[in-house]
Amino acid sequence: MSEVLYGSAAADALRESLRGRIAALNAARITPRLALVRVGENPGSLSYQRSTRRACEALKVTVDERVFPASCTTGELVACLRLLSADAAIHGCLLLRPLPEGIDEQAASEAIAPEKDVDGVTSQSLRRLFVGYGPGHCPCTPEAVLHLLDHYRVPLEGRRVTIVGRSLIVGKPLALLLTGRNATVTLCHTRTEDLPARCREADILISAAGSAGLIGPDHVRAGQTVVDVGTNLNAAGKLCGDVQFDAVAPLVDAITPVPGGVGAVTTTVLLEHVVTACEEVASRGS
Ligand code: NAD
Repeated sequence: MSEVLYGSAAADALRESLRGRIAALNAARITPRLALVRVGENPGSLSYQRSTRRACEALKVTVDERVFPASCTTGELVACLRLLSADAAIHGCLLLRPLPEGIDEQAASEAIAPEKDVDGVTSQSLRRLFVGYGPGHCPCTPEAVLHLLDHYRVPLEGRRVTIVGRSLIVGKPLALLLTGRNATVTLCHTRTEDLPARCREADILISAAGSAGLIGPDHVRAGQTVVDVGTNLNAAGKLCGDVQFDAVAPLVDAITPVPGGVGAVTTTVLLEHVVTACEEVASRGS
């Protein structure tokens, strides 16, 4: 039977390291503060808002929540994000997705100052990922995957990694981060030919397709580590990943569950970015 790589263990370790950093900020009379903006009533966003709020409370990070109706305009949302970005008391700004149809997502993202872009969605943050310097933060989910693999001491250097999914927020940044760690990366998508073969040739298989049950026994082989980033609802309305966990787990070395895998680390990475942004402000003395 394979080892199950639970996200909680990796998140606990990261959270512990944050406590000391937050205490040092508090000693300088600074409290890290996150602004969270939601538009509409998407159930996934509501759930992420709740888990972010809980994570903030556990670490004594203040969270300011702003909620707009789905009928709001891009202009109203952009104005709010610019105000939050200009507010010196706020260190990070998170805009929950998906946004309702009719909102210009790019305009909204770019209204967030890159220093406060703790979710890593602005073009400046993505530029930093490419060039290695400048303002901004890494997208949280790819960083959470790396934290999880590092926590369980899964070696990356020289190893073949297949990623299924090439989105700007998960697959592409993850490919860059892993390349930076000297892994050899294959990035797959809906037009990839013979996906099962591309998946089987990997030492580490990461699925971020958003397709329930996409990865089955044909996609894996003995010795692999499988990371499931997908968060989907199955036919019964239950949260599930991209990987057929029960069928795949007995065949591989190690596997992350859904729920309880990558998602459990992502929120803590977000808070790490808020603390980092706060430390940068504190070090500038403003
Ligand atoms: P997206 O829809 O933007 O991108 C999906 C990608 O997967 C695309 O590049 C597409 O080409 C590829 N893909 C889809 N179906 C495929 C198939 N059958 N074969 C090959 N490739 C396929 O999605 P996203 O925003 O990158 O999110 C991906 C998944 O990760 C979703 O389930 C999302 O909910 C989840 N997610 C989880 C976390 C977390 O913290 N656990 C965070 C962000 C996203």
